[in-house]
Amino acid sequence: MKAAVVRAFGEPLVIEDRPDPEPGPGQVRVRVEASGLCHTDIHAAHGDWPVKPSPPFVPGHEGVGLVEALGDGITHLSVGQRVAVPWLGRACGRCEHCLSGWETLCEQQVNTGYGCDGAYAEKMLAWADFAQPVPEGISALEAAPLTCAGVTTYKALKVADVRPAQLVAISGIGGLGHLAVQYAKIAGATVAAIDITDDKLALAAELGADLLIDARKQDVGEVLRSHGGAHAALALAVNEAAFTAVRAGLRRGGKLVMVALPAHGTIQVPIFDTVLGGTSVLGSIVGTRQDLAEVFRLHAAGRIGVIYETRPLDSVNESIDAVLHGHVKARIVFDLGTGR
Ligand code: NAD
Ligand code: ZN
Ligand code: ZN
Repeated sequence: MKAAVVRAFGEPLVIEDRPDPEPGPGQVRVRVEASGLCHTDIHAAHGDWPVKPSPPFVPGHEGVGLVEALGDGITHLSVGQRVAVPWLGRACGRCEHCLSGWETLCEQQVNTGYGCDGAYAEKMLAWADFAQPVPEGISALEAAPLTCAGVTTYKALKVADVRPAQLVAISGIGGLGHLAVQYAKIAGATVAAIDITDDKLALAAELGADLLIDARKQDVGEVLRSHGGAHAALALAVNEAAFTAVRAGLRRGGKLVMVALPAHGTIQVPIFDTVLGGTSVLGSIVGTRQDLAEVFRLHAAGRIGVIYETRPLDSVNESIDAVLHGHVKARIVFDLGTGR
């Protein structure tokens, strides 16, 4: 089977032919149909973060495909069933976080395409308990971006406790942001979309954003404050300055939810403003299996449009360049051939 492999940080990925992986107890082998390119995969391939994967590895955590082989002990999945394999490859199921509905914070978790081989491949392994069944009627190509970009932004809005009639700022209208705009609208919010390309701002408008802010030309904080300030701001742009810019647009009591992970990222939080304004800065990491089930349900109900372009896996290096240069409509999905 073919896989795109990171052999060394910052080097182009190499397409390799590898033997089909054999599922161990509790695992399944998935014949991948579609695999989304999340910006996290680029951070992984560049070794951007303090905790690094170990090359050689196969990135990819928006994998969707058909179960092809079952390891020992699997009774709830069957061969031929379509599943999604998200970032949360597995969690321990026993710790305080797992038991309290926060499996995404489990310290024993293994991350797909980071701590184990991921979805930039024709075949992959998944832990059956964390492979999410994809409901009938959702194509593999559409399910792929929902598997990380969808669940992450859906969860971040829950973390921000967004309510109808609030002003929500979405900073960065890429793979994550184009879905965040739609979830915020479903939650009833007025949505301010912020980006630095005309195409992304136009896309945000098409998806229902109420206010467009061009961070190249406008002062993001000032514009948001002129509308009363944001109750919540999702920082999805891979740019440190964008975090500071959108934080400055919070209203009193507003929440900045950090989601993007720029390399070596830090921001300065002024104590006086934070104390007197009662603002918060929170982090949000992907979402749980339950969150992903809800994301799939919303999509199956026809309430979300997934914007993507397909490419072959062989184009992985050019595809990464396209994302880094902002030349992608929203998400690239590698089309590995639908199994049915
Ligand atoms: P992307 O490249 O598709 O989108 C980023 C968007 O930000 C682009 O539209 C770009 O034009 C825009 N942008 C760049 N600079 C900007 C600026 N100064 N102001 C406003 N917008 C700007 O990336 P993505 O796949 O959506 O991922 C975004 C980030 O989120 C990455 O760092 C990724 O690693 C991270 N991520 C985090 C989680 C999590 O659970 N916390 C999950 C998935 C991805
Ligand atoms: Zn991701
Ligand atoms: Zn745990």
